[in-house]
Amino acid sequence: MLQQTQVATVIPYFNRFLKALPTLNDLAQAELDEVLRLWTGLGYYARARHFHRAAREVIKTHHGLFPERIEEVAALPGIGRSTAGAILVFAFGHHLPILDGNVKRVLARWYALPGWPGHREVESKLWQHAWRNTPQEGVGRYTQGIMDIGATICLRRAPLCEVCPVGWRCRARRASSQALFPAPKPSHHRPLRTTTALMIHNSRGELLLERRPPSGVWGGLWSLPESGTSSGSRWQGVLEGPGVEVGCPWPEIRHTFSHFTLVITPLPVHLKSLPKFVEEGPKWVWYRQGGELPGGVATPVLKLLKRWSTMDNESP
Ligand code: SF4
Repeated sequence: MLQQTQVATVIPYFNRFLKALPTLNDLAQAELDEVLRLWTGLGYYARARHFHRAAREVIKTHHGLFPERIEEVAALPGIGRSTAGAILVFAFGHHLPILDGNVKRVLARWYALPGWPGHREVESKLWQHAWRNTPQEGVGRYTQGIMDIGATICLRRAPLCEVCPVGWRCRARRASSQALFPAPKPSHHRPLRTTTALMIHNSRGELLLERRPPSGVWGGLWSLPESGTSSGSRWQGVLEGPGVEVGCPWPEIRHTFSHFTLVITPLPVHLKSLPKFVEEGPKWVWYRQGGELPGGVATPVLKLLKRWSTMDNESP
């Protein structure tokens, strides 16, 4: 949960999650919908899918015992080398380095290491520094310490060097060049993608939701049907048919992903009857205003559902 997300944001989700699914077994046995519903609002839903798959993998492959070898932990879905190291350090006291984003920043400044940490050579040097600094004794305290320095002292914009416990030998501090390290990611153009989110509703004011394919953008989440996708082309024919009222589009919503920006135009559509390809079941569901969500829902869709729920949508 803490990947790319601040502690204060995570705390309520973490507590809710542990209350609902307190053990590895509970997580492994839960439906993906339940896991995604608990994750709704936290974003980066691949983490939830990986987490769920990893729990099932531990039950199946490791007979419910969390593995202790770094190769086995790093082979679990969603767990990279640094996370595997952190788990083994904190859970079992193994002697392993970690290198998350915060630790990279501390080491890049402390060694005044040039280059963007996403470049292979730079990352490899950072791993060497991480290994060199990880002590044999007290590895847990060291690891927690360097993570905390990165999260609370060696801040991205204004590092608090006066209170930094390792500041006396920090090369960037001595050269007053903290702002130069780590070097920023080379800028790249983030393309725009557009889609129309069909707010298909019936005379009871219910909205039609579709479960997205298990992988890809918002994989496994419930969403509004879109035009422009394979199912969207089927909708195109329906929208042009009889018994359909297409309303005025709502203001567009922009949602930024790491590789592109999605521009969503919500379009209310009233249908008297459903086309044949829509059947209630695992892929389609009617969402009642203010009702319980069928599973996980991405933030922009959640906003639309909330707005929809405040409106009077029932046809006379
Ligand atoms: S002295 Fe400043 S720049 Fe260097 S590690 Fe500490 S907080 Fe970061």
